[in-house]
Amino acid sequence: KREAEQAAAHKAAHTADGVRIEVVANVRNAKDAQEGVANGAEGVGLLRSEFLFDDRDTAPDEEEQAAAYMAVAEALGTERPLVVRTLDVGGDKPLPYLPLPKEENPFLGLRGVRVSLERPDMFRTQLRAILRTAPLAQLHIMFPMIATLEELREAKAILAEEQAATGHTNVKVGVMIEVPSAAVMAEQFAREADFFSIGTNDLTQYTLAMDRGHPKLAKKADGLHPSVLRMIALTCEGAKKHGKWVGVCGGMASDPMAVPVLIGLGVEELSASVPAIAAVKATVARVTMAECQALAQEVLSLGTAAEVRARLAKFAD
Ligand code: PEP
Ligand code: MG
Repeated sequence: KREAEQAAAHKAAHTADGVRIEVVANVRNAKDAQEGVANGAEGVGLLRSEFLFDDRDTAPDEEEQAAAYMAVAEALGTERPLVVRTLDVGGDKPLPYLPLPKEENPFLGLRGVRVSLERPDMFRTQLRAILRTAPLAQLHIMFPMIATLEELREAKAILAEEQAATGHTNVKVGVMIEVPSAAVMAEQFAREADFFSIGTNDLTQYTLAMDRGHPKLAKKADGLHPSVLRMIALTCEGAKKHGKWVGVCGGMASDPMAVPVLIGLGVEELSASVPAIAAVKATVARVTMAECQALAQEVLSLGTAAEVRARLAKFAD
């Protein structure tokens, strides 16, 4: 079964009734991107740019960053999409050269795009480096941890200035949906973004108010909780009103059990970990859109994550 899955993984993913679902990879660097393509990824749905900033004493300059992003772009070629997430660090993931005040609640503090807006010098350097891949890639840039339209507008205004300064205008701009306010306001965000990518890891922790790393709570912070599924449904509904596409780049996209529900809710792109690509594609090929939509509607009305899981296990049989 494994070998058949691996062979099928090199075809574009479609449901059994012919609906195209893009299956792409979460990567940290060019080597991961090469492995992704070798394992059937149709592109990169999440480049975690933190890899360039971790484990060092000074921030990488524009040249160093540009070389790293360029290497990822080259691994993909001009036909496959590349979605770069801007720096996603914060109180919970500190950097020695980026001193941030100690916070009582780092997950509710300066994190994700808020750090970039606090340090526009670093943000502009990163954006210029990313933009240098625009001629070589199907470039998408997305901002993590967006909670309000003001944050999105501020980030987009800075990006627009750097685009004007560099002449690299060919880029799609996306919002990561990781905070309930962004999911609930998806229709408003969809007017001002080209696409959404749902970070289900953070969306789950913020919806259920359970720390994703907590020794006791992390197990209960289940993305298949109906409350999180409702957030995903709202995100897809809001996006569709403005003709924008929705992807998932959190851990749920790598979980074959979750895939039919995500598709049924309207998710069109799944960005999975490299080892999960073949199984995710095989799941997509086994289901029809009609049955996924019916399944999604059914589980949205359930009361607990355990009930959702029981229903999905039955569906998988
Ligand atoms: C997420 O929150 O689901 C996500 C993709 O981002 P990270 O796991 O890097 O926070
Ligand atoms: Mg996240």
